[in-house]
Amino acid sequence: MKAAVLNAIPGELNIEDITIDKPGPGEVLIQTINAGLCHSDLHFMDGQWDRLPLPAVMGHESAGIVQAVGDGVDYVKAGDHVITCLSIFCGKCDFCLTGRPNLCQNNAATARPRGSASRLSRNGEAVGQFARLGGFAEEMLVHEHAVVKVRDDMPLDKAALIGCGVTTGVGAVFKTARIEPGSTVCVVGAGGIGLSAIQGARIAGAGRVIAVDISDAKLETAKICGATDVINGAKVDDVVGEVRELTGGGVDYAFEAIGRKETVEQVWKMSKMGGTSVVIGMMPFGQKIEITGYEIFMMEKTLKGSMMGSNSFRVDMPRYCDMYLDGRLLLDEMVSHTMGLDQINDGYELMRKGESARAVIDFSL
Ligand SMILES: [Zn+2]
Ligand SMILES: [Zn+2]
Repeated sequence: MKAAVLNAIPGELNIEDITIDKPGPGEVLIQTINAGLCHSDLHFMDGQWDRLPLPAVMGHESAGIVQAVGDGVDYVKAGDHVITCLSIFCGKCDFCLTGRPNLCQNNAATARPRGSASRLSRNGEAVGQFARLGGFAEEMLVHEHAVVKVRDDMPLDKAALIGCGVTTGVGAVFKTARIEPGSTVCVVGAGGIGLSAIQGARIAGAGRVIAVDISDAKLETAKICGATDVINGAKVDDVVGEVRELTGGGVDYAFEAIGRKETVEQVWKMSKMGGTSVVIGMMPFGQKIEITGYEIFMMEKTLKGSMMGSNSFRVDMPRYCDMYLDGRLLLDEMVSHTMGLDQINDGYELMRKGESARAVIDFSL
């Protein structure tokens, strides 16, 4: 099967022929129909993150149709439509048992036993799966705890987006921050994750929703998604001052959806007394941030991280599908480019230039 493989960091993706094994106990073989291009893969391709055994099939935002299941799998069967998620849960650890399965670290429980054949290989040599998924491939072989079944009338290109970006952004609002109706929100960064956070704020009943980006095109999409105000950070001197002015002193909830030191510090400063700042963006590994200590205790401000939208994805993702199908969650508007697997490097080049909200691979092209 064809797959996009990363062989060096930094490096481009190579389209190669990869051998995929049959599903073992607890595993699911999926025909991948669509895969979204998410920023996290790019961090490895560009070398900001480098802890990844290579070679690896990249991709972690995919949806498809179950082809076969291994022994003991009764959650899905051949023909079921599924989304994969990197928050693979063991179901047994403290995090899984206390409602925080997105923080599960018990990877061994959902991996193949030591010494057994690799799920993927190239000329007899093992090939890894990015995020234990390897979604930029015509087929995926994953643990059953990496999939959620979705309704058959959910278009799989939109379902793929729910597999990472949408769940990350919407979940940061619904599940990490748990904003109250009427509260004021600012989202810095209007890419796939930021636009999802903006939509989450609208659906959750936020009062004012301010979007900040340096692309006017993305800010236009942000308005469609629910932003009540937009600020082009390249055109104003003081973004924090603008937000404070618009809200009379700062927002209740500020979300950083880029992953940069400067913008994390910006959201911290624009959250008001008693407010909460949520970091969603994937920051370069080892990056430190500076905030002023007295603001934490004197002003009761909170800084939180949100990992994959604090998801319980088998519950959350079908809900997000329902919200798309009933018209509340706008996903058609977020897909800016659709392309075949062969064009994947062009898709990432668009992302580097900040020109794509979300590009989606269609494996039939
Ligand atoms: Zn992602
Ligand atoms: Zn667990």
